[in-house]
Amino acid sequence: MRAGMRGHDVLVVGAGLAGMRAALEAQAKGVDVAIMSKVYPVRSHSNAAQGGINAALSEEDSWESHAFDTVKGSDYLGDQDAIEILAKEAPQAIIELENFGVPFNRDETGRLGSRNFGGASHARTYFVGDFTGQAILHVMYEQLLKHGVTSYDEWFVLELARDDEGAVRGVVALDIKRGTIELVPAKAVILATGGLGRVYEPSTNALIVTGDGMALAYRAGAPLMDMEMVQFHPTTLKSNGALLSEAARGEGAYLINKHGERFMKKSAPIKMELASRDVVSRAEQIEINEGRGVDGCVLLDMRHLGAAKIMERLPQVRELALEFAGVDIIHEPVPVRPGMHYQMGGVKTDVWGQTEIPGLFAAGETACVSVHGGNRLGANSLLETVVFGKRAGAKAAEYAKGQKEPRLSQSWVTDQEKRIKALFDRPPGEKAAALRLEMGTIMTRNVGVFRSAEGLEEARETILRLKERFARVSVQDKGRVYNSNLLSVLELENMLELAHVIIESALFRTESRGAHYRTDYPERDDENWLKHTLVRYRDGQHELSTLPVTITRWQPQVRQY
Ligand SMILES: Cc1cc2nc3c(=O)[nH]c(=O)nc-3n(C[C@H](O)[C@H](O)[C@H](O)COP(=O)(O)OP(=O)(O)OC[C@H]3O[C@@H](n4cnc5c(N)ncnc54)[C@H](O)[C@@H]3O)c2cc1C
Repeated sequence: MRAGMRGHDVLVVGAGLAGMRAALEAQAKGVDVAIMSKVYPVRSHSNAAQGGINAALSEEDSWESHAFDTVKGSDYLGDQDAIEILAKEAPQAIIELENFGVPFNRDETGRLGSRNFGGASHARTYFVGDFTGQAILHVMYEQLLKHGVTSYDEWFVLELARDDEGAVRGVVALDIKRGTIELVPAKAVILATGGLGRVYEPSTNALIVTGDGMALAYRAGAPLMDMEMVQFHPTTLKSNGALLSEAARGEGAYLINKHGERFMKKSAPIKMELASRDVVSRAEQIEINEGRGVDGCVLLDMRHLGAAKIMERLPQVRELALEFAGVDIIHEPVPVRPGMHYQMGGVKTDVWGQTEIPGLFAAGETACVSVHGGNRLGANSLLETVVFGKRAGAKAAEYAKGQKEPRLSQSWVTDQEKRIKALFDRPPGEKAAALRLEMGTIMTRNVGVFRSAEGLEEARETILRLKERFARVSVQDKGRVYNSNLLSVLELENMLELAHVIIESALFRTESRGAHYRTDYPERDDENWLKHTLVRYRDGQHELSTLPVTITRWQPQVRQY
């Protein structure tokens, strides 16, 4: 440990939108705040968000309508108290972003312009072209700089440090630039480490999205909730899994099969292409499986939108299709297929971001509040990051004010030093990249849009074998400075644990709900499964249990689009 490493009141791990919003709010409450990120803050995956952010802002819309759409989108698995907060606080959150300086698109009358998005009964998605996440993240970063929040850029958290009572009181982290291991004490820690996309291959998520925070919390004893709920986005490119934003369908794009038929009329006659993502992804996979696809894909057709609209509203979609599929969407339909996009589950928290472990908070994609339940609506995730990031920041600051200076054993550092040394000392053996690809491939094949006991058990066996092989994974690069080889090994260990948790949760839920479709249990079963799944780590084992869903005013109905 570097001598004199200063402690903080609140340490936020993760500098995406959830982390930045949490840090700003905690700072505003007058405590000492720091933010830590394994990549330079504005490289966080929030930067990649394209389509927009939801809020019931217009007079014709209402928070109740937004909340109901979200409840229905979640296939009734979302907690309705949390969803009410999300929808009620959304308009204020958008105005706040606008006041920070986010240049949202405007309509002809000069008011904030909105677009349609999947599963929504009103056009309530606010956007900046098709690079909304980038615009918000950069503006938020300016706010962090303006308010002087301490930033640990390119630090990788290895472990949550706990005191004798088991409360989280800081982190042990690798300073990537120097290669040293440091203890950073804090009275409260907020995990805002994003999703786990790269457990699957391919994924729309950046390579850095490896579920570290979920794995850290899990190993420290915090339960993970609804981990079987993995979203496959309907429009990803075959070549590299890159996302073509839902904004395309929001602006009016069609999905067609090889006969030129708009097949969504079979499963969602009213909403068609703008049904919720789980519904559209399943419909596409059926077309592909039954031989009506084109080379393992269906077609996304935007020709009728015209060049002017495409260039104004969807420039990035055009660029991505051109670069990675060689298709100009102005003139041709582009092949797309469902691809892993988002983890609805995560570290279980209350509506203030508190986990079951004192001193540990979580927000953003890492957390499960739960507002998305079995299926997230497009543009509700950016909203979740700012609404619940802010709440977690406020609560963590309040909590920290009542705590004494952390007292932590030096063994937190020496244990991690031993762990890293052991990795370096391993003789040449397995390569992390090979294991990562095998893991991601079986997860997509057997734990994807369609699942069955047989396929899930096969996936479990594969993951168990990969875990064994992980003991022989070596770090070829022995340098200490910027050792990305070492990082990829550490990330793989986290991802293998989470893959295992996803499979156990998917085997446990013997029904079909939201994104979790079991071909051997094809019906939703409210009698037995209107429940969250919880997984805890006990003595090296996954312990599964359930928790009731919070229902405030919307009773489950048959879900049709
Ligand atoms: C291509 C794409 C497009 C999307 N489009 C939309 C959209 O239009 N609308 C919408 O609502 N949602 C969208 N989403 C989803 C949404 O962008 C994400 O869910 C959201 O941005 C997650 O934000 P976050 O703050 O939770 O995490 P992230 O932005 O992923 O940030 C995670 C942070 O944690 C840090 N971190 C992780 N592990 C460690 C570690 N071990 N040590 C230190 N730091 C660590 C990272 O460095 C990073 O700073 C999209 C997602 C993708 C992938």
